[in-house]
This record gives sequence, C-alpha cells and structure tokens, in this order.
Amino acid sequence: MSSNMSVVGLQWGDEGKGKIIDLCTEEFDVVVRYQGGSNAGHTVVVGGKKFVLHLVPSGILHERKLCVVGNGVAFDPPLFLQEVEDLRRQGVAIEGNLKVSDRAHVVFPYHKILDQLNENNNSNNKIGTTGRGIGPCYTDKMARCGFRVAELLDTRHFREKLKWVLEKKNQQISMLCGKDRLSYDEIAAGYAEYAEAVRPFVTDTVTLLAQEMKRGARILFEGAQGSLLDVDFGTYPFISSSSASACGVPAGAGVPPRDVGKVLGIMKAYITRVGEGPFPTELTGEMGQQLRENGGEFGATTGRPRRCGWFDAVAVRHAATINGADAAALTKLDVLSGQKEVKICTAYQCNNKTLTHFPANTVMLSDVEPIYEVFPGWDEEIRNARKFSDLPSEAGAYVRALEDAVELDVEIISVGSERDEIIRV
Ligand code: GDP
Repeated sequence: MSSNMSVVGLQWGDEGKGKIIDLCTEEFDVVVRYQGGSNAGHTVVVGGKKFVLHLVPSGILHERKLCVVGNGVAFDPPLFLQEVEDLRRQGVAIEGNLKVSDRAHVVFPYHKILDQLNENNNSNNKIGTTGRGIGPCYTDKMARCGFRVAELLDTRHFREKLKWVLEKKNQQISMLCGKDRLSYDEIAAGYAEYAEAVRPFVTDTVTLLAQEMKRGARILFEGAQGSLLDVDFGTYPFISSSSASACGVPAGAGVPPRDVGKVLGIMKAYITRVGEGPFPTELTGEMGQQLRENGGEFGATTGRPRRCGWFDAVAVRHAATINGADAAALTKLDVLSGQKEVKICTAYQCNNKTLTHFPANTVMLSDVEPIYEVFPGWDEEIRNARKFSDLPSEAGAYVRALEDAVELDVEIISVGSERDEIIRV
C-alpha cells in the first residue's frame, strides 16, 4: 500500500478532523486539501492559541511541510488572501510552502449571490448552505462555464470569457430577484488584482505531487466536511457539492487512485450536523442543548449552533464502507463525561422493519426510529487521560462498543481540543 494517508470525516462534518490532521502531519511531508471550499472550517488549538483554517490545509501550522490546495477545491481568491494574511499576522510562516492548483475552480461574487437567492427562493427545500458560493461554483464547473485558476491568470482570456459568463449570470440573477446585480468592470478589475496576488502561489500541482511522490515524500490528504455530506453517498439533497469521502481524493488532489493510501476515518463520540436534513438520532431537548454546550458545537465558519445527537453507527458504518476506512480516530470523548448513560444507535426501525443499512432515500431516513444500545456513563473528567487504561472503565467499554458497532479499530482517542490531549490506542 502507498505510504500516503487520507483523513476523512465519517459523519456530517465537524468531527475534529483539523486536530487529528494537525497531529498526524508530523509524519508527512505534504498536506493536500482535495475538495470543498471556504465553507470548511478546521479548528486547531496549539499552545492555547486557536487557528481556524478554511482554504489553507491544516498542515501549515507545522514548519517545513508543503501545503497544497488541490484542483478539486472551490477557490475563493479574496478569502484565500485574507486567510494567508491572518495566518502570517499570527506568526505562521507562509512562503514557498503553500501552493494552489492551477486547475482549481474560482468562486466569484455571482456564485455567492446565486447561492443565497437559491436558498431563499427554495422555501420548501432549504439545504442550509453557508451561502459562500461553493455549490454554484461546482455547478459551473460541471456546466463547463467555470474558470480554472489558470484562466484567471491569463488576463486577456479572462476578460473575454468573463463577458459572456457574467451576462449569463446576470440573467439568472435578474430572473431570481428582478435586477441586474453585478458590474463587469468591477469584477474584471477586482479579479485582475487578485490574480496578481495569488500568482506566486499557483502551480501545476499534478506535476508537483507526482514529483514529490517520486522522491519518496509522504502525502496526507485532508478531507473537508464529512462523508454523510458527500455528493454521491450523503443524505442527498442535504449535502455539500463535492466528494467529501476518500473517493474524492484522486480526482480532487490530482493523484492516481493507488496513491490514496491508508484511510483514517474521524468520528465524534456523538454526532452533529449543521443545516437542514434528516438526522435520526437528533436530541432536540435538554440533552441536545447539553451536548451543544459541553462540546462547543457552534460552526467554526458561521457560528451556527450545530444539531446534536447520539452516535449513529448505521450512518458511520455506511461512511466507513464507502471510504474503505482502515481505522478510526475517535474525538470529543471528554464531552460525554457526566452523562448517566450513553447510547449508540445500531439499527433503525422503519415501517415495522429493522434497517441495518443507511437508506439512499432521504425522505425515508426522516421517518426512521433509532434503535439504541444503552451503556453506563461516567462522571470523571478525562482530559488528562493519556493511556487507554487511564480512562474510566465505562468510557473504555463505550469505545470498545463503538468499535464493534462500526467494525473499525479506534487508533486515536481525542480527549480535549489541545494537541497533546490524546490517547494512542
Ligand atoms: P473539523 O472541521 O472536522 O476540523 O471540526 P471543527 O474544527 O469544526 O470542530 C471541532 C471542534 O472541536 C474544534 O473547536 C476543536 O478544537 C474541538 N475539538 C477537537 N477534538 C476535540 C476533543 O477531543 N475534545 C474537545 N472537547 N474538543 C475537541
């Protein structure tokens, strides 16, 4: 097997991938983001200092690691430049260690407007998007009217193409809200400036990664969002617009499928989701509120409160299967301290039938009842646990039950947000 590794979320995102990626980066030479856009928000806490990364790979917090924004990412130039500036201000060294694919697709202001208009006009079918234009950017990529970063840097071509694309977009905007919203001159001038500012970062990352692998470099592929938000395998249509599972790695990073490497799935000790969509184990009452507060479950990008629920092993098994997950990292076990009992959903009840597989029909998923196995909880604070044997026996038993329920070994247990709050199993 290749010595690379892909780190992916096995739930609806916010599993704590940022922390695990940061932890694993030590063993790798290159970190590559392969999908999603600035809607992703990975939080890494180092020495009490909090970094929130949106487009820049989490590996940037380590010196001498090459970080790559892959071709599968929806690339927003002003937000990228702002993020780089913010990181530099926080003392992070960014010089030749950050590269952007010349094949990544560019997010434009009309993508954001269309994102928000689509969501607002869609009262029966809101997706709960962050409104950052990622979905419409991917739509344009598929509809073959998007811009690769390479086209943005080709000044003459860019100005020509923007004319017809913007005309089309302004027609769409005016159909949805009755007026032409965007000026060609403003976008052309603004993006010409961005082009010059991002130019030093842009390169042919397909060739770069091939060369790196040839010289023996190890690559870590960083997933954003989670597998249950994957465009093909998630809870359609309440999903992101990209392949958030490891299936997206070859296409989104620009490497051959054989180089995906080990797949490490990240799962929280409970489950959350942001935005709309079915959520069989959701806890809407006091218990949900408690998990939200204890776990700080508010979006890193939007501040939106996350919906919280018991661990759903049916959903995670589905995610582990499509990813071909080799092992799991379990995060936020500390958040469950103080619960009298903890629950794992092992199957769903649906029309007098027991379902052990995650249904493709999202409407059906809204109607299922979770079937739980119930385990005793623990009172102890566990943030100082550094060995499995430091955990209260109930917490240890819960981890073992999760492993059985999802048919994966847990290799890492995270017991706090700091880098060292970790147990290697
Ligand atoms: P990501 O997008 O998957 O990286 O997840 P987020 O960054 O949105 O959310 C994870 C949040 O949980 C961040 O605020 C992390 O600092 C925090 N976190 C990660 N692991 C742990 C853990 O084991 N315990 C606690 N209490 N917080 C954690």
